[in-house]
Amino acid sequence: MSCIVCGVPQASGLTAWHASCRKCGYESAALQVVINEQSAGSLIDEDERELGLKALRQENFRDIVGIARRYVRPGAKRLLDVGCAHGWFLEAARGDFDVLGIEPDVVVGGRTAARGLPVRAGFFPDVLQDGETFDVIVFNDVIEHIPDIRAALDACHERLSEDGILILNLPSSAGFFYRLAKLFARVGWNGPFDRLWQKGLPSPHVHYFDPDNLDRLVARHGFACVHSGELPSLRANGLLERIRYAGNISGPSLYLQYSAVLCAIPLLRVFPSDIIVSVFRKTSAAPAS
Ligand SMILES: [Zn+2]
Repeated sequence: MSCIVCGVPQASGLTAWHASCRKCGYESAALQVVINEQSAGSLIDEDERELGLKALRQENFRDIVGIARRYVRPGAKRLLDVGCAHGWFLEAARGDFDVLGIEPDVVVGGRTAARGLPVRAGFFPDVLQDGETFDVIVFNDVIEHIPDIRAALDACHERLSEDGILILNLPSSAGFFYRLAKLFARVGWNGPFDRLWQKGLPSPHVHYFDPDNLDRLVARHGFACVHSGELPSLRANGLLERIRYAGNISGPSLYLQYSAVLCAIPLLRVFPSDIIVSVFRKTSAAPAS
């Protein structure tokens, strides 16, 4: 497999399904995406994991709406949220934008639509109407799941209005927890590494970027980076629920872990975060591929 950023052959990685590029650091996984084919059991696991992340996501989503308002052309209103899942970002953004969500998982998307949020079931860009365009397109923890990311970026270019912005919020390979998980995997403990790639879930991660190699890839598809930043991967709010769901633990050990992580939050701020958010403005140049 060649690197999707610089085109050179990738080196084999830390497991049979993992590969990385020695030149730019881009990492990929040959993990299968099986959305809508999952068993009831994995659905429940996925649901619980999501609930554990709700408080963190909601705070980060409010920050992303603020970033969108800062970079969007004055008066621009139409916002598309690709892979809107439970609709939390749609809820955060609808006070400032005319929002539309797309969700491929029919069960999750159906529940979100039942709460009165504007959601179309299906994949981006297939479910969009001819000529339908947006001022902002957002991927929150979604782009790293899309195998043909280059086609998705071309579709973003086509579906954005003039000067429209693309916002990518995704896990970072430069992040503290990801690098720690790689260290563990090197000494034979693969659990955290598998978890961060979401191995075994219906829609695992298939890409891992850092801000630089992401910028290089996206720029080749007719975009210019206007903002590259981080969001906290741990926040005190909702932390207890997150540890409870993630570790399936209770009682004293739950509170012990909670206290330890709570104390570590200020310390972690000195390391690169595991969540990056980059904003790209559409340029007039046609996409390279
Ligand atoms: Zn590369």
